[in-house]
Amino acid sequence: MQEAIPESLQAKIEERLRYYEDLGIRLFYRDREPRALSSLDSSSAAPPVRSTSSFEESSLATPKSKVVPPVAVAAGPETRVAVRAPAGLSLFEEVNKIKDDTLLKIREDLGDCTRCKLHKGRNKLVFGDGSATAKLVFVGEGPGADEDVQGLPFVGRAGKLLTQMIEAMGLQRNDVYICNVVKCRPPQNRAPEPGEVETCSPYLLRQIDVINPKVIVCLGAVAAKTLLETTRGISQYRGEWQEWRGRKLMATYHPAYLLRNPPAKADVWKDLQKVMAELGLALPKKKSS
Ligand code: URA
Repeated sequence: MQEAIPESLQAKIEERLRYYEDLGIRLFYRDREPRALSSLDSSSAAPPVRSTSSFEESSLATPKSKVVPPVAVAAGPETRVAVRAPAGLSLFEEVNKIKDDTLLKIREDLGDCTRCKLHKGRNKLVFGDGSATAKLVFVGEGPGADEDVQGLPFVGRAGKLLTQMIEAMGLQRNDVYICNVVKCRPPQNRAPEPGEVETCSPYLLRQIDVINPKVIVCLGAVAAKTLLETTRGISQYRGEWQEWRGRKLMATYHPAYLLRNPPAKADVWKDLQKVMAELGLALPKKKSS
């Protein structure tokens, strides 16, 4: 016999369903069907790569790895599901049901958001920035002090390092899209709380769906755990391709972590080279002296 749902829980569920209805999300699945774990398209030719990058070699980096002859980076066959994302459709995935969604509509839906307590300390909501048709989306954790003032993601110290990382890939910031799990600055730069993530992340998912990138790079554990719906530590699956809603997802370390631990830049550069291979990007040529 099924257990009765306590009234308090029922009220909570009703409130949440009303909230999703406000977002235009109306269909929910009670049971999740197992999803086939397929390898994604791996047809992109691997470009020549070298082992170091300008961002790795920046003054912030301690290790200097030596340049090695070009090697191919295999992309597709390595696609694994190290983190088994929940099978079947999750509540998040129901954002797919929003027809003709656009970044503008999402921004309008957010409005002067007061859905969670983070709004109280907010100066500016940080929606996201970059190309609306980017093949590559970076997802961070949440705005810091500089981002809160400017209303733009990754513009502080960690942001400058992210810009170096993007440029080391042969791209410019406006070639990619950059956003965060939560759109308002958590006080004292603490990690966003689960309720804040739950409230804000449907908008992130709508953004990703509208942009429809080929690759998503999660910067740090908060982004990776949110999108992959896992509690596993990022070091267990960092650098390994994950399948995420028909797209490829790479989790790597957050630039703020790299500022504290420059040796980890070598790992991140390896991860970014895999992303470059997937996107068919050639590494910038080494500057002649
Ligand atoms: N850290 C993040 O995760 N996001 C930003 O926008 C800035 C710093």
